[in-house]
This record gives sequence, C-alpha cells and structure tokens, in this order.
Amino acid sequence: MSGRRPDPAAGMGDLEAALTREACPVCTRAAGADERWLDHFLYEGWQEREPMREVARGAGFCAHHARRLETIGQSATVALIHLALIRDVLPRLAGRHGRGKPAPLVAAPDACEACAQARDVERRECFFLALLIGARRPDCYGNPALVCMPHLKQLAGYLDAGTIAGVLAIHGRTVAALGETLAGAPAPACAETPADRAIRVILGPPERRDLLAPERHGAPFGDDPDPVRRMRRRLRHMDSCAICAEISDSCGAWLGWLARAAAAQGDLSDVLPLCRHHVWQARVAGGAILAPALAAVVVGEAEERLVYAGKARELGRGAAIVPPAVQRAWSSMWPSSGSRIAVLDSLQRGRECPLCRRAREAGERAVLLLAALLEDTDGRRAFEGGYGLCVRHAAQALALPGAPAVAAIVASTMHARLALLRWELEEQLRRGAWQARPAGRGAEAGAWLRAPSRFAGTVRVDGP
Ligand SMILES: [Zn+2]
Ligand SMILES: [Zn+2]
Ligand SMILES: [Zn+2]
Ligand SMILES: [Zn+2]
Repeated sequence: MSGRRPDPAAGMGDLEAALTREACPVCTRAAGADERWLDHFLYEGWQEREPMREVARGAGFCAHHARRLETIGQSATVALIHLALIRDVLPRLAGRHGRGKPAPLVAAPDACEACAQARDVERRECFFLALLIGARRPDCYGNPALVCMPHLKQLAGYLDAGTIAGVLAIHGRTVAALGETLAGAPAPACAETPADRAIRVILGPPERRDLLAPERHGAPFGDDPDPVRRMRRRLRHMDSCAICAEISDSCGAWLGWLARAAAAQGDLSDVLPLCRHHVWQARVAGGAILAPALAAVVVGEAEERLVYAGKARELGRGAAIVPPAVQRAWSSMWPSSGSRIAVLDSLQRGRECPLCRRAREAGERAVLLLAALLEDTDGRRAFEGGYGLCVRHAAQALALPGAPAVAAIVASTMHARLALLRWELEEQLRRGAWQARPAGRGAEAGAWLRAPSRFAGTVRVDGP
C-alpha cells in the first residue's frame, strides 16, 4: 500500500472535460434527463408503485411534459396511466359533502415527477462538481466553464466557506466582462451575439419549449375585449381549460407588448422577464431588437446577486431567515458557516420575474371571475355545458375560501367530465384489443390524447 491519499475526484474525467467547454456543465450534463426518465416511465416505471404514487400526488405531469406524452405515443400506456389518475381523483370530487374540511383535490399541485427527476440529476451534478472543485481547488473552475446562476445556487450549497469566495469571485469577473461586451467591448468571435452569449452564460441555454413560445399563439376568443364575455364564451365553447387560455393570453399580450416597445426604445427594465424560460421566450418573441435590453437586465440582476452574496460572506450575517441560535450552533460545528448560510440565502433572493408574476396573477384573477360567473344562471349553464377545467385549475377553484356553492358546481361538473373520460379510455382500450378489430374505431380512439391536458391544462407557469 502506498501512503498516498486516494484522489477524491477520481472517475470524474467527464466532468473535468466538460469544464474545458464554455457551456454550464450542469445544464449540459443534465439535458434530456427528464425525457429519459419519461421514456423509462412509459416503458415500465408506471407499473411500479412508487413512481406512480409520485405522479398521482401531482395529478399527472406539468403542461410541458403532458404535451410530451402526447407526442411520444404509447396510446394504451397513456390511457392506463390516466385511468389510474382518474381513479385517484374521483373519490375526492365525490366526497365533498362530508363534515370538516375536504381533502385538497391535488396533494402537490406544483409537482411534476419528470421535472423533479431532472432537478435530482442537476443536484447530483452540482454535488460532484463541488467535489471536483474541492479536490482541484477553484482554479480548475471558470476555464472557461461556469455554471449558470440557477445552478450556482445549488452548487454553492455543496461548497465549503473558503471555496465559495473563490467561486463567487470568478462569477463576478465573468459577469462584469459580459456586461462590458454589451457596452461594446470586443467579444470572442463566435456565432452568437454578445447579448445572446450573456443570457446563455448567466441563465443557461434555452430549452426546446422556450423556443416554441407557445404563449404567442392566441387561444379562441382572445380578441374579445370584454373579459367577462370572453370568459363566458370560452367556458361554453372551448374544448380546453378556459383559465389556462386566460393565462396564455395574458403572457402572450405581455410578450407582444415587449416586442413592440423594444422598437420604441423606452426603458423596459422593470417589465422585462428574469427567469430563464421567460427570458428566452421574450428573446424569441422580441427578436434581435429586444435581445440587448434582455441581456442588460440579466447581467444587472446577476451582478446584484453576486455583490450581495459577496457582502453577506464578508459580514457573515444577513441571513434574516436563519435564527441566530441556529447560526451559532452551525458556527460552533463548522467555523465560518454563518457566512456560508448568508451567501446561500442571498443567492436565493432576488426580484421575482415580472412575467411569472403576471401569469400567476392572471390565473388567480380568472379563477375569481369564474367564481363570480357561477353565481348567475347564465354563467353556470355555460360552465356546466362546457369543457369544465383542467384538474389543476379545478383544484384551485375548489380551494377558494368561503365559496362552497362554487366548489359544489366545479366538483360535480369535473366529476362528470372525468367519469366520461374514464369510459372513453376504457372503450379505447377495449376496442384497441386485437380480438375487437371488427368493431372499428370511433372518437374514443383519441381519448388518450385528451387525457394529459385534462389533468395538466395547456399552460405551464414557469418559475426560475
Ligand atoms: Zn446550468
Ligand atoms: Zn414537468
Ligand atoms: Zn387550466
Ligand atoms: Zn418567469
């Protein structure tokens, strides 16, 4: 045996190689993890109890992954998965007349297991990257690869207090240099404009869904300027969730306004999006003319976060959410951990993305409008005769405080729609069986295509 300590970074050659390229190594290495998990889930994972329970907790997937289910295919598997979800949800819609507070319709309304699996992979990559930086010291980092700001928050959680300082300094220098290229300093020769490069380095590359910018395609009746009449018509005539349509409209209008305002050269910094998905969507909607303004806001926000994190580290405090007793306990076990907690806390903070806020508020306002419309006969008829809602927004409407009459109408309509969908899915499976081939196929053959969006809706409200 030699007396040398084993290299803690042994076996991390791939990760080390990723550090020699410019892109965020965590984004690169975690890309497609959600798709791989989804493929596996459709292949066999759905038959196992644990993953299926997690999917049921969130009542299916987010709108993005629900749409992926539709494109991947596997009609019978998708039908069986949604039959299980309907079986899970129906009793909670039916049993709302008992005493006491009814159970929420969806246990974890913001959860999507495919998204959660991708985040797990990202966390794991951050953990190994921290191990590598610890073993090689910070000079292996930033030559040229850096993690994007969303992943820096996670990476910092695995770094010790001494290493954080070096890593923050590298990020500070890079962000400042990106800011200078925006102001006209020479940028490295590459296919990207300085604005696109700044956005990509700081927020990470766009995902496929960002480049589609689905919110730009208007939902039916979007041109009706009267919001009450629009909502009533949508409830009656649309074959998808009207609240989702209101959110789409609202985000689409915001992006459209930004694209027009960019040409007028006003100061847009307080209304430009900040989270990765919305920044890239705005980049697509606004074109090259909006890109410099977007990049400037992204650079400014990152600079501010890094300055605060640096100050928090120096002061070793500022973590108002961590009680002093906890800080003292931590510091006694791990010297200088007080500053570490303060750094993590200040990296987590920051201004909320205006477009995320807009989407959330549009959804809340639409649920309140629905509740008001259900108070009169005309509105109630429109709702009861129409599509109903996606399960996510039904859960939101059922949770409205002090509105038992609204909850009763929403619950009975949703119960009826899901019972019908269950019958159609069963019929699809029955007629799809080989020995049933003389029976021919009808509209029920497409039931599996309607099921994912019945649960997830059609818009995804993305946070950072
Ligand atoms: Zn990243
Ligand atoms: Zn998802
Ligand atoms: Zn919806
Ligand atoms: Zn956003």
